[in-house]
Amino acid sequence: MDSSSTIFSFSGIRVASGETREIYLKVAESFLSAAIQIPVTVIRGVRPGPTAFVMAAVHGDEINGADIVRRLIFDVEHERLSGTLIAVPVVNIPGFLAQTRYLQYHRDLNRFFPGKKDGNNAERVAHKIFTEIVQKCDFGIDLHTAASGRLNLPHVRGDMGHPKVRRLARTFGATVLVDQAGVKGSLRREATEAGVPTILFEAGETGRFSQKISMAGLRGVLQVLTEMGMWHPEDESKRPPFQVIVKGSEWIRAEKGGILDLAVKPGDLLYNGDLIGSILNPFGKTVTQIRSPCTGIVIGVTTAPLTIPGTGIIHVARLKKTLSLVERSLKKRTKRKKK
Ligand SMILES: [Zn+2]
Repeated sequence: MDSSSTIFSFSGIRVASGETREIYLKVAESFLSAAIQIPVTVIRGVRPGPTAFVMAAVHGDEINGADIVRRLIFDVEHERLSGTLIAVPVVNIPGFLAQTRYLQYHRDLNRFFPGKKDGNNAERVAHKIFTEIVQKCDFGIDLHTAASGRLNLPHVRGDMGHPKVRRLARTFGATVLVDQAGVKGSLRREATEAGVPTILFEAGETGRFSQKISMAGLRGVLQVLTEMGMWHPEDESKRPPFQVIVKGSEWIRAEKGGILDLAVKPGDLLYNGDLIGSILNPFGKTVTQIRSPCTGIVIGVTTAPLTIPGTGIIHVARLKKTLSLVERSLKKRTKRKKK
């Protein structure tokens, strides 16, 4: 965190100000006795400033963040950066190689932070990442997508009661900010509790790149870096059409088995009683219709058409006080589209 010194050391390698270095950080070993190493790009601006991390693919199949980090490394002029940026396109190497969310033994890395030096495999990996990257930073951004079989509206998650987390979240520029500190052991919660305010950007689906989401993610990261005095942009920051902080979000679940005909998409505004979709039997007859039990905005949907009782269909963030703001903004947008 010593941003005033001219030398920054990472994994035993010194990076001088104005320098960009690609460094491998060894975090584990494979069944073939080979090192498992995380590729890390350390970008140091000429001018002093804070130190920040931007990480992706803590869940190995959530690869869209890797594209955002790639753009961050290659598509921006490093001369315009102040301070030190630690950019990590892929955190969970075993999961990334196997295209799964998990580390070996089906362990979810994002439940084991801050980790333990002599703990299980996940705790050891988490400990390395936490001590070598997170604790060297003043703040951080963790990039995710929806879990497998789901699609998310781009949104930011974090502990909005924490003033700095709230500031990072607001400047990222997403329309929906979900006020959730995160479960115990998650990177954003443990980093924030350790004094490194961290937000999570959640957008898109596993195993895919989306140009639109990559661009929104890159813009969000740069807007946060600008706010924190690390980036000097050419153009003005873009404000979202609206921005709401939501506290509660819930999954609406199927009560019947069958084939889902979904009628809503991420970003849709739903009123209590609105049709969400129908569940059909193999003959194509409607078994049941699913209606919304609340008013809110759709922040996630299933992409799998098959249901059994208990299958999560859509993820809704309830809107109360902010409902009229969202209504006004969405109506304006529909009108504009019609013209
Ligand atoms: Zn994730």
